[in-house]
Amino acid sequence: MPIGYIDTRSKPAKLLNFSDVILKGIASSGGLFVPEKIPHLTKKEIAALAEMPYYMQAAYIYKAFKIDFDVEQIITLQKKSYGKNFDVEEIIPIAKVDDLYILELFHGPTSAFKDMALQCMPNFFEASIKDEKERKNNDTNYLICVATSGDTGKAALEGYKDKEGVKIIVFYPNHGVSDIQFKQMATQTGDNVCVVALNGNFDDCQNAVKQIFSDKTFNKLLEKKFNTKLSSANSINWARLMPQIVYYISAYSKLLAAGEIASREKIDVCVPTGNFGNILACWYAKKMGIPIEHIVCASNENNVLFDFINSGHYTIKDRDFIKTCSPSMDILISSNLERQLFELCGHDYTQVKAWMKQLNTKKEFVIDTDTFKALSKDFSAGYCDQKQCLASIKHLYDSCSYLMDPHTACAYNVAKVHKGPNKMLIASTAHWSKFGPDVYRAIHGMQPNQILPQEICAMSGVELNMHLAKELKIKYIPNNIKSLLKAPIRFTKSIDNDVQKIKEEIVEFLMK
Ligand SMILES: *Cc1c(COP(=O)(O)O)cnc(C)c1O
Repeated sequence: MPIGYIDTRSKPAKLLNFSDVILKGIASSGGLFVPEKIPHLTKKEIAALAEMPYYMQAAYIYKAFKIDFDVEQIITLQKKSYGKNFDVEEIIPIAKVDDLYILELFHGPTSAFKDMALQCMPNFFEASIKDEKERKNNDTNYLICVATSGDTGKAALEGYKDKEGVKIIVFYPNHGVSDIQFKQMATQTGDNVCVVALNGNFDDCQNAVKQIFSDKTFNKLLEKKFNTKLSSANSINWARLMPQIVYYISAYSKLLAAGEIASREKIDVCVPTGNFGNILACWYAKKMGIPIEHIVCASNENNVLFDFINSGHYTIKDRDFIKTCSPSMDILISSNLERQLFELCGHDYTQVKAWMKQLNTKKEFVIDTDTFKALSKDFSAGYCDQKQCLASIKHLYDSCSYLMDPHTACAYNVAKVHKGPNKMLIASTAHWSKFGPDVYRAIHGMQPNQILPQEICAMSGVELNMHLAKELKIKYIPNNIKSLLKAPIRFTKSIDNDVQKIKEEIVEFLMK
């Protein structure tokens, strides 16, 4: 029997399968899908994983979740997901730096950790569409609709490009992403892709896309006119989270096999957090049997999660959205927290629904004592302002010749503060070259947002990276970044943050 899926806001009715959940993305109640139960791996199983290539580890864990695919198919799809598309054979190398372990999750085709999920999910998505067409004898196509703060958009485009039965449209905050992120998206290749800039911040983008998803009339129109259903690649899709559980398990088994940790030892993990997807995956890994003691949530100045984890009070009242040098963490409403709360409060969907409603109407909610206790048991939290972030980049480079991106630097800064007796693993979520200007500021001891010297300002993102690499005698810049220098721009459109306009954009794209 496969493990079925329930959602965070309604009474479990008929349990859905993994292949249903991946296509639906979000539940009809507005809630998020979670597995009805979490599989457990024995110590022996976890240790044995170290002998396998990464794709087999991923297949093993998917098998443990008893998804409704046969084993051969899971292996084939995972092999396609984690192979030559990554620039190192081990897929997720771990660097031992300072007294910490840095889990490098950025070796995929867009140099952000989102590739870990988005090189995998579309393969399962494509297979699920094919399966649905055969099973139901229909010809339903899908449109992946994404709101991105920068990294997700590119990783989703790269994952879904030229897949069958599916198109993808990406909305990002106009001027809210780096030059490299902009170029990565604007130069995207593939026949089934579209990229549009929205005037607004990421929360505006996300809210607009959420509204579109819940607009029944519009969804009906798409089905009738284009035979197309909307689906999501944001981390609200459970299939985005599953691949992320894999790397925590894999990393632990690797450290164990290498003798870096003893089998009795617990580890701590520090995760730079935005939408709470990556850190939630870490929590699932813990529940599956990985001996993680503290999961440390690292935020930037948008530290709503820091306050929440310390107080049980989530509030975005009187809180301004701050644009920082770690833009993928510039988020005030962390969608995946909903899943975490659902798991911690004993699957009380009525309660979760009430909290989410309060957040929507009153801009705040307070969790009950038991849920807060459960939260405090697994999580601690810290945050890092931009000045500390840049100083951390410089410090680690000067002391260990290791260059981090600003998101990883937030986690490094927080991890140093929270480091106790346990070994500490940090999730490194992007290659530094995706955020060259701020890394330049850091290395040159400049202030956050300080205007760059004129000759640096005049450079494109890639040129700046090459300049910095030369200066620091760093040989490696990922190919996908270097190639942006010559790639032709395909998408330049920007529109107002208006649901009607967004709908028109979607219809226009589907008519092509
Ligand atoms: C998306 C992203 C994050 C935040 O991850 P969540 O799963 O949203 O918490 C952190 N760093 C980088 C570089 C990212 O792209």
